[in-house]
Amino acid sequence: MNQDTICAIATAQGGAIGSIRVSGPHAIDITERIFIPVKAEKKLTGRKPYTLTFGHIYNGEEIIDEVLVSLFRTPHSYTGEDSTEITCHGSSYILQQVLQLLIKNGCRLAQPGEFTQRAFLNGKMDLSQAEAVADLIASTSAATHRLAMSQMRGGFSKELTDLREKLLNFTSMIELELDFSEEDVEFADRSALLQLADSIEKVIARLVYSFNVGNVIKNGVPVAIIGETNAGKSTLLNVLLNEDKAIVSDIHGTTRDVIEDTVNINGITFRFIDTAGIRETNDTIENLGIERTFQKIDQAEIILWMIDATDAPSQIEGLSKKLLPHCEGKHLILTFNKSDLIREEQKEAILFLLTNFPKTDINSIFISAKQHSGTDELQQMLTEAAHLPTITQNDVIVTNVRHHEALSLALEAIHRVQEGLNRNISGDFLAQDIRECIFHLSDIAGEVTNDMVLQNIFQNFCIGK
Ligand code: GDP
Repeated sequence: MNQDTICAIATAQGGAIGSIRVSGPHAIDITERIFIPVKAEKKLTGRKPYTLTFGHIYNGEEIIDEVLVSLFRTPHSYTGEDSTEITCHGSSYILQQVLQLLIKNGCRLAQPGEFTQRAFLNGKMDLSQAEAVADLIASTSAATHRLAMSQMRGGFSKELTDLREKLLNFTSMIELELDFSEEDVEFADRSALLQLADSIEKVIARLVYSFNVGNVIKNGVPVAIIGETNAGKSTLLNVLLNEDKAIVSDIHGTTRDVIEDTVNINGITFRFIDTAGIRETNDTIENLGIERTFQKIDQAEIILWMIDATDAPSQIEGLSKKLLPHCEGKHLILTFNKSDLIREEQKEAILFLLTNFPKTDINSIFISAKQHSGTDELQQMLTEAAHLPTITQNDVIVTNVRHHEALSLALEAIHRVQEGLNRNISGDFLAQDIRECIFHLSDIAGEVTNDMVLQNIFQNFCIGK
């Protein structure tokens, strides 16, 4: 148990109400030294846990603020320690004054993430849950919030515990066999073990795979906007991003750099990648940009191909061959821009042209980026193309790079176990690989994680959490 009592401002600046957290063995008596309840009999040290007490914070004779103090007693608090939370008015002057008074009376200012670190050290949550707290604070969309919430509630931890239990059973059978190795007995039925290994492998593989889904939810569905120069890519991007980040210009080839930005459409985060226009050219800088365009296309899930509708047949003809091989397994949206400049017959001719298009699972749409027409429908099309699995708070999805790495190593270890069982290798080699698999899973929950890694994780928190 940690002996220091720590304090920190837990709310962001600028709100009407501010909150200061105090945690540690002296949390209650230090708070009492600066707080006088309105009703004299309601002294904090005598109060029951989970109560609110109304009163004033004093600096000597001077009243600093009228506040409410919430009280928690060990082990039933966020950190597992005695804690108080002082809710006062949100002025940064008041918050600073209260903080100073607490420090003067024996508290120490908390390090970033120290409250959550104490919760972890006191067994209130495992490391994967503690990390989810940081994600929860950082969540900006409904989907990232749902992900972090599910992890904090411990769905992931439960899967890990189940896996580790299965693996421990596995090793104990093998190790029992090793103890009796002289007598050449096989306690562990090899085919039953293989079945067990297969079922463990399935769960780990699913978790490793879920990282891709988690990653897309967290960082956005990558959409590459491609097309010939002057098709209107930058103009569209500006409309989607609602700002003038990309350069719009009449001179061919101005969008030389790849610009990325995220935007939230219907609750889904999209990461738009505007690319250099594709055009045969001798300009080396522009050629470099074009090369990068194709690299970006390979990373995208959705390809938004902008075509200048006034020049559609030649633009389709010009790019199809180069582009389509890169579109395998991706969602392709043909976006005919500048529809304000074409007549109805031209539109029909383009639609007719599409009936012979070599790729079948495509969407197409006419828009005018300049006049903002059709862009709402395009956004709807993007939302449908993203077809993210709807996740619930009960789904276990891995979003953290550290967890993903540990799971990938666990997967490699269990693959070696499966291979070993198939090749009938001796028990001690099997036991070693199983132990390695357990080690990596335990790393996620923080059971074998070294201090340096721990420090690193909690450092990324904000102070007060
Ligand atoms: P990019 O090279 O593909 O990024 O193309 P830009 O976005 O820079 O646009 C090239 C030119 O086309 C600019 O002059 C735009 O104003 C113009 N443009 C873009 N979209 C439209 C549109 O929907 N209608 C019309 N008439 N002009 C457009």
